[in-house]
Amino acid sequence: MKEFLAVVKNTHPNIWDVWMKLSESSQTVWVGGGVRNCFLKIPPSDIDLATSLTPDEIIQVADQEGWRADQVGAAFGVVVIRNGEDQIEVATFRTEGYGEDPHRPEWVEFGVSLEDDLARRDFTMNGMALTIEGELIDPFGGAQDIKEKIIRTIGKGEERFMEDALRMLRAVRFASRFNFKIAEETRESICRLAPKVAQLSQERITEEMEKILLSEYGEVGWNLLDSLGLGQAMFLDHWKKGTSGVALTYLPKVRVLRWAFLGFALSPQVLDLKGLDRKLINQATWLAQEGLVRWEGLETLRKWSKMSVFPNFGALIEGVLLWRSFREAILGSDLSLNEQLGIIEIFREIPFYPAQLKVNGNQVGEIVGAGKLVGQALDFLLYQVQEGFVANETEELLKYLIEKKVERNTENLISKE
Ligand code: ATP
Ligand code: MG
Repeated sequence: MKEFLAVVKNTHPNIWDVWMKLSESSQTVWVGGGVRNCFLKIPPSDIDLATSLTPDEIIQVADQEGWRADQVGAAFGVVVIRNGEDQIEVATFRTEGYGEDPHRPEWVEFGVSLEDDLARRDFTMNGMALTIEGELIDPFGGAQDIKEKIIRTIGKGEERFMEDALRMLRAVRFASRFNFKIAEETRESICRLAPKVAQLSQERITEEMEKILLSEYGEVGWNLLDSLGLGQAMFLDHWKKGTSGVALTYLPKVRVLRWAFLGFALSPQVLDLKGLDRKLINQATWLAQEGLVRWEGLETLRKWSKMSVFPNFGALIEGVLLWRSFREAILGSDLSLNEQLGIIEIFREIPFYPAQLKVNGNQVGEIVGAGKLVGQALDFLLYQVQEGFVANETEELLKYLIEKKVERNTENLISKE
């Protein structure tokens, strides 16, 4: 496994220095997702170290070397060391005990062995460690499971999911990220305990759900949520068993499109989730409702522009592009030529340059005066036409400009009084 060390050494030399230094006085290993990713030949999303040093000892070493070190979540014994551009999480070996909370450990114990630390982790593929000499420590057969593309809990599924219900969603997330199968025993445990995910905070569910929706093999994840009963546990009666997630294979990996699909497949109401920002919820809800409507030209655009989802012209254009992607992916076909031409037609009608306005500089100059003001007034009118506040017709534009000028002057008079 020496070749895995090169990943750290070559791409993150600062982290390598930290690892080397900590190893001088302790057993410090690379653990978790990064090691797993090496086997999958994909870059690690983060490099996590686990160590026999206590948090205080970690900080001591960091201080000696002049690295900034901050303890995060004191009870969890994790120190973040910053070396140059890089930051790295160093966690003291520990075991955890669970109580009532379906996600948070009730107690944490330090001073345990590396094997104990690995045993508290969720899946065999996430329970491996690599020493700085390049030796793999893999007590639960993670490497073999990765080879066979299997996600399996460390220990009994039932116990591990009782401790932390989030792990059931993590299993689905990893399956849909790597196109892995879930081991039989692990699957059965999830089927039995799926209702427990309802006890997780909504923010947690939103976070995991987003990762599943946006993963490489979204359809795999969707089908698992369906067959394991997790979809129903999270979204209750909105989740109809057997709903197809095939569109996820075609839908671009864009947050709003993926969330819109959920709203479309279940019901737009389900999108009102804690942890999602209002703009995303509004756009996804709109897409879930309007995503399949036919393009009726200016009429469609007018209807949409009146919805609170699109505060300006730019947002509306963005909306049209989203609508197009969504519709094409769901229907599995490109827009008809007529629809495409219809969209082009609309954009042809909307001016982007002052020269496209049905007034010229001379006409405007008579109202606002000569010089710099003419250009400013034309820009102003252009924007007003794009936003739909005034039609691009000579008389209307001039009348509008006069009105605005009067308003302005009045305002000036009032403010001078
Ligand atoms: P990613 O590439 O998405 O970051 P990861 O495996 O690194 O995947 P993290 O959430 O960063 O996932 O967690 C790091 C490691 O911590 C995991 O590999 C796993 O060993 C352990 N872990 C994380 N969450 C849990 C959990 N809920 N239960 C048990 N172990 C966990
Ligand atoms: Mg990680």
